[in-house]
Amino acid sequence: MLDDTFLLDDLLALPEIEVGLAVLGCPIKHSISPQLHNAALEVMALKDPRFRHWNYRKIEVYPTDLKKALPKLAELGFRGLNLTIPHKVDVLPLLSSIDEQARVMGAVNTLNWEKDGWKGYNTDGVGLSRAIFQAFKLGMQEFNVLVLGAGGAARAAVAQCLFEGCKNVAIFNRSSDRARELCHVLKKNEINQDIELLESFSNPYAGSSEPTLVINATSLGLRLDDPSPVDLNLLSGKIYVFDMVYNPPFTNLLKQADEMGYLYANGLGMLVGQAAKSLEIWSGREVSTEAMSQAVHI
Ligand code: NDP
Repeated sequence: MLDDTFLLDDLLALPEIEVGLAVLGCPIKHSISPQLHNAALEVMALKDPRFRHWNYRKIEVYPTDLKKALPKLAELGFRGLNLTIPHKVDVLPLLSSIDEQARVMGAVNTLNWEKDGWKGYNTDGVGLSRAIFQAFKLGMQEFNVLVLGAGGAARAAVAQCLFEGCKNVAIFNRSSDRARELCHVLKKNEINQDIELLESFSNPYAGSSEPTLVINATSLGLRLDDPSPVDLNLLSGKIYVFDMVYNPPFTNLLKQADEMGYLYANGLGMLVGQAAKSLEIWSGREVSTEAMSQAVHI
């Protein structure tokens, strides 16, 4: 065992687990998911002693070990799993069933043990939606949305916009081919609302009376010296900015939003929102995000 990170073999030495929860990834050492979940479980245990026996760990699982890890973990008493890099897509053929929204998103970050095996869900979109409501007091359906990026997080964001019926959605990505591919995949999934592709960054909804929400779903911002993925000066209209990056908490994109007087939020609320939704799936209870938010130490 490395610090508080488990390797698969360490689990055999654990005392009997009543209900085990865990995040699997590689690398996983940096994950703060155990802090979030165990804080929420402590609060839940005050009302229902059943949750005293629930424990959330982080486990390093190499890509080649995922196939053998999933049945092994079920055998050991694990009933809920989160997946992070690099497992979110590779897990798809290993599932017994998949939730419809996760299927459209093409990736899974939550597994729930059901009678015939692991069922996959994706809680990133719900986490994003809850974070946006919490930060701006507006639902996604009230915005025109510009999504920056075309990777897994962007796909979850665009799909969530479409599920919630936001006014309009446009995608801007460094590689326009990848953005085109994302639109194509979502259209194949019988989502009929138009998705606009931006070849250069601008606000096609500047004339609209509805506000525009810019969502950064690129990985630019993760490093302190990363430039902003776009120049907000190129936009006009009523603008809100959401950056999925939460560490560092104040990216160059958010600094510019602040200078321009726009309302903005970083990705911490999304991290907490997706964690709460996962715990709701596993426990069948509503989960308060308060304890999770207080437990975050970045
Ligand atoms: P992917 O690797 O799948 O996608 C990365 C995206 O970033 C691509 O669109 C890529 O563009 C773009 N990109 C990378 N480098 C640059 C650059 N130098 N200039 C412009 N664009 C760039 O990553 P994910 O979709 O999984 O994650 C994206 C971000 O979302 C990460 O920062 C991640 O931490 C965050 N995230 C936050 C969550 C939260 O709970 N807050 C949850 C999930 C993700 P291209 O296609 O051209 O390569």
